[in-house]
Amino acid sequence: MVIERSPVERSSCSSPIAGPILVTGGAGFIGSALVRTLVGDLGTRVVNVDKLTYAGNLDSLASIAADSNHVFEAVDICDAAGLRAVFREHRPLAVMHLAAESHVDRSIDGPGEFVRTNVLGTFTLLEEARRHWLSLDDADRARFRFLHVSTDEVFGSLGAEGFFDEATPYSPNSPYSASKAGSDHLVRAWHHTYGLPTLVTNCSNNYGPYQFPEKLIPLMVLSALEGRPLPVYGRGENVRDWLFVDDHVEALLAVLARGSVGETYVVGGASERRNIDVVRSVCRILDELRPDPGTGPREGLIRFVEDRPGHDLRYAIDASRIARELGWRPRETFETGLRRTVEWYLENPGWCERVLSGAYRLERLGAGAAA
Ligand code: NAD
Repeated sequence: MVIERSPVERSSCSSPIAGPILVTGGAGFIGSALVRTLVGDLGTRVVNVDKLTYAGNLDSLASIAADSNHVFEAVDICDAAGLRAVFREHRPLAVMHLAAESHVDRSIDGPGEFVRTNVLGTFTLLEEARRHWLSLDDADRARFRFLHVSTDEVFGSLGAEGFFDEATPYSPNSPYSASKAGSDHLVRAWHHTYGLPTLVTNCSNNYGPYQFPEKLIPLMVLSALEGRPLPVYGRGENVRDWLFVDDHVEALLAVLARGSVGETYVVGGASERRNIDVVRSVCRILDELRPDPGTGPREGLIRFVEDRPGHDLRYAIDASRIARELGWRPRETFETGLRRTVEWYLENPGWCERVLSGAYRLERLGAGAAA
């Protein structure tokens, strides 16, 4: 069953959600879902700061392109002068920071860009946000929030039991998660040292429409449609918790509106699945929606390949704090969310063709030194 999603409630003008909000990375997968909700559903003014790397596509914002509440600024978050000009011109009352290098496999092949954007970029953004925050009048300074969006991968790997929560110690294992851990610590320090009103979220694997087809689910959908092999790391035993992107957006808005300053919230989809089971589910949905009698069931395309170096075994989230304190729960089950996602990719081949027209063409990344 597909759950129809009603728009997130509009907030009162004293809430940071009333805007203007500076969103970084708003042309990416999660950022574009957030911007579509803020501008399209809530009528919030958004200044979207994005450098448009391979992962950033303005095509994902086509539905709000003509809306005067959306202002796009092509600025690198490592560019202090560029950021300063954006803060001066748009005077945001909140920052939602999503810009990052986000793909673990790419971080194995080229960690430098991850340290630059995720660590140096977050530092630069924090400094410019602090300068701007100090320039606000008392009422606006009290309202201002800096929400940093991070990952559960900073906590390292779980065994068969247990869950990550807000008290889990940091133990990152990949260049990506180490760079995100570094950025989390900077945000924490800017709150404790300078009083910047920060919030941090650490969430599990997101999936949904508009995800760049290098990540597991869209990669499998598009490869299976082309009848190409479906590469699964190791034996596919690694377990991830899956969070539908629009559920994540609602969590971010709940944290921004009602979260306690200086605090962290972990966010999960209550949907733990082994990678192999995710790929099998994708195959089954495609066989049903787009049967291909010539090739037979698409599970036959699955190929086990050499594991990713340092591949964390299991991530799982105990999201009871955000449920208890902020009333947020995921609306989507993995089954409903996955079906919506596959349907979206089937209905939007043009988007896939356009974002894939760059250098990346469904090749395997992340073999690192072994490559
Ligand atoms: P994404 O890779 O789809 O998008 C990242 C965006 O940031 C792109 O639009 C890109 O152009 C932009 N960007 C990159 N470097 C930049 C720079 N130096 N200056 C300005 N813009 C830059 O990422 P996503 O999947 O949407 O993830 C968004 C955030 O959520 C990231 O911070 C990521 O670490 C975090 N996160 C993602 C997941 C997930 O499953 N996708 C899970 C947990 C946390």
